[in-house]
Amino acid sequence: MYYFLHKCTAFYPNREKKNVGYKKRRTFAAKKIEGAIMAKRKSKISEYSGFSTFINSKTSFCLLLVMSVIFVNCNKTGMTKEEKDLIKSGGENNPFRVLLTVNRQDLPVLRQKSKTLDLGKDTEDLKLLIKRLKFTLKAEKGVGIAAPQIGILRNLFIIARVDKPGMPFEAVINPQIISHSEETVCFEDDGCLSIPEISGNSIRYPWIQVEYFNENGEKIREKLTGHSRKDNFAAIIFQHEYDHLQGVLFIDKLCEPSR
Ligand SMILES: [Zn+2]
Repeated sequence: MYYFLHKCTAFYPNREKKNVGYKKRRTFAAKKIEGAIMAKRKSKISEYSGFSTFINSKTSFCLLLVMSVIFVNCNKTGMTKEEKDLIKSGGENNPFRVLLTVNRQDLPVLRQKSKTLDLGKDTEDLKLLIKRLKFTLKAEKGVGIAAPQIGILRNLFIIARVDKPGMPFEAVINPQIISHSEETVCFEDDGCLSIPEISGNSIRYPWIQVEYFNENGEKIREKLTGHSRKDNFAAIIFQHEYDHLQGVLFIDKLCEPSR
């Protein structure tokens, strides 16, 4: 209604100028209606705020709880039949096929975000998955491989601990980078098993603080510092594999080294 009255004056500008009495009447009528609308609005607002207070006090906790349960369950689920079938498609000394970015059906998988593993479930399948991933990494002569690279979209990767004697392969489950250096380095000659025969320089943090579960289910918190290919580049390997879990590849992080 308020809108309609304004429309009227906009439609008949001359009539308004000539007839002051009309203008006064219009203003009076408009103010009266405006007042009525405002009173109505106020009562609506108070009704609404009363309702929202009720929601806040009585049900918000329950809603938050239900949402949290849904979120946790959606984010942390047991393995699917397809995932189990793929894991059990070979023995522990059978490598997986590594997905390649050049394959049309592989690329969308490599670009997806992985899900959290539920360590309380599928223990035997997880053990076999880790063994087969290690075997695949050895066969491919790599230093790191992430589960999405063989088609399992789960937060898991294997890295060669180049910072430890004998450079053992270690499983990293549900990892998080909890802090990192402010500065970055341009790491030279990064490469990926999913992008063979191509290398490039990628931007990385020289050190990271990480948290994850090892294959014995123990929670590990440590600082990885190596970022030099010549001796130790454990921090770089971790970041490269961690990126795979987010659907990120080293070609997304290319940089020019400063000479
Ligand atoms: Zn890679």
